[in-house]
Amino acid sequence: MSAGWASAADLAALVRRGARSAEAVLADALERIAREDPALHAFLRTCPERAEAAARRVDAQVAAGEDPGPLAGVPIAIKDNLCTAGVETTCASKLLAGFVPPYDAEVVRRVEAAGALVVGKTNLDEFSMGSSTEHSAWGPTKNPWDPTRAPGGSSGGSAAAVAGGLVPLALGSDTGGSIRQPAALCGCVGLKPTYGAVSRRGLVAFGSSLDQVGPFARSVRDLALVMDALWGLDPADMTSAQPAWPAEAFSAAAGGGSLEGATLGVVREYLELTLDPEVRAAVEAALERAQAQGARVREVSLAQTALAIPAYQVLANAEASTNLARYDGVHYGARAEGADSESLAARTRAAGFGPEVRRRILLGTFALSSGHYDAYYLKAQRARRVIRADFLAALAGVDALVGPTSPVAAFPLGEKVADPLAMYALDVFTVSTNLAGLPALSLPCGFTAAGLPVGLQLTGAPWSDPTLVGLAAAWERALGLDRKPRSP
Ligand code: GLN
Repeated sequence: MSAGWASAADLAALVRRGARSAEAVLADALERIAREDPALHAFLRTCPERAEAAARRVDAQVAAGEDPGPLAGVPIAIKDNLCTAGVETTCASKLLAGFVPPYDAEVVRRVEAAGALVVGKTNLDEFSMGSSTEHSAWGPTKNPWDPTRAPGGSSGGSAAAVAGGLVPLALGSDTGGSIRQPAALCGCVGLKPTYGAVSRRGLVAFGSSLDQVGPFARSVRDLALVMDALWGLDPADMTSAQPAWPAEAFSAAAGGGSLEGATLGVVREYLELTLDPEVRAAVEAALERAQAQGARVREVSLAQTALAIPAYQVLANAEASTNLARYDGVHYGARAEGADSESLAARTRAAGFGPEVRRRILLGTFALSSGHYDAYYLKAQRARRVIRADFLAALAGVDALVGPTSPVAAFPLGEKVADPLAMYALDVFTVSTNLAGLPALSLPCGFTAAGLPVGLQLTGAPWSDPTLVGLAAAWERALGLDRKPRSP
């Protein structure tokens, strides 16, 4: 069995009982990445030495009769905005070329402690700013379903690595949709947890009040397996919390979830937005399937939907402009020549930041500047409060809100990259989740006539993440889709 298409759960079971060595699983994964990634460009680099050391540790534990953990021997890819000790971490920016972090992101530490093998770092839009992975300083990632199309973004490399069968699991980050939208466009499962459920320590900050780390997998069961390793308080991240979930809450939810008797809320305002008719049809068919399984569907209202993108753009960019001020040519990564510290910083930034990142920094700095602060930043903060209240009211009578993750399926590379507003408009269903701090999951629910996957988004009340996973597992079983883009 190839590590590429095997499930994480099956691989871990084989490794734990000594039927397959972690080293053999790893060799297979690395060979597959070397053979297939040149066509996808999901990875910016692999880290075979680190992965081999981890595999040897797992195999030694098995030989000693110890339990190497629930992710034993499972290859995992890490978005290149998560720090990996000793392994270059660039955020797909020239500014961070050559930056080797001295420590691991907490999520990297946790998956390795659970036995996973970190095989490499995946491509993204520079500093996670984008929805197509085309804003990478090292070129775009291709969608495994159609290499002329974008995988979505910003975690497009992680989504493509999982969907393309290179690895069973990957980690990404989501500030305004960067896990859910590429999961939708690549036909895999992705979860943005409730803000605070997963540590952000070692995640390179974009919008600190919006950023969350989360997983990609090809099945809800595998997603649950990695979530169980990720969640929980990290004293080193002051925004992290200890959810009142039992151990292995996600695996239990994935095993026991049911649509029978569930109430699903369909957002009226979302139905009125412009949507690719094929996306609409796939989501409607999935809703009918859920009803056939005993779910009730109710219309709910999010009256403030129109505020979401403007409020997100102001707040995310304002936070980005302060977060990215640390890249001054002295502390991290690349450095240009300069006579004094000011010109050194200016030249480093001019040479290091790509056009989209510069645009965001300028917009964010403008929104925070005196004279404009009240009109933009403060107003956007108020909008954020209204949006959250809107969501909490809509969620009060339902188990989850359901709708499309993205208004379109995978679009051709090059189609939107020169038109920032068209790119930002893709985030209409995802950004409000981050503004409200809620959990949301994208599940493949069907295909367009051209065979491109369509994603269904489930959004829940704060800390209902395991409930979402349970509903998604039941829905996945009911839909029974074959989600392999090409023969292995
Ligand atoms: N696409 C959104 C943006 O460009 C969200 C990105 C993200 O979640 N990191 O800002």
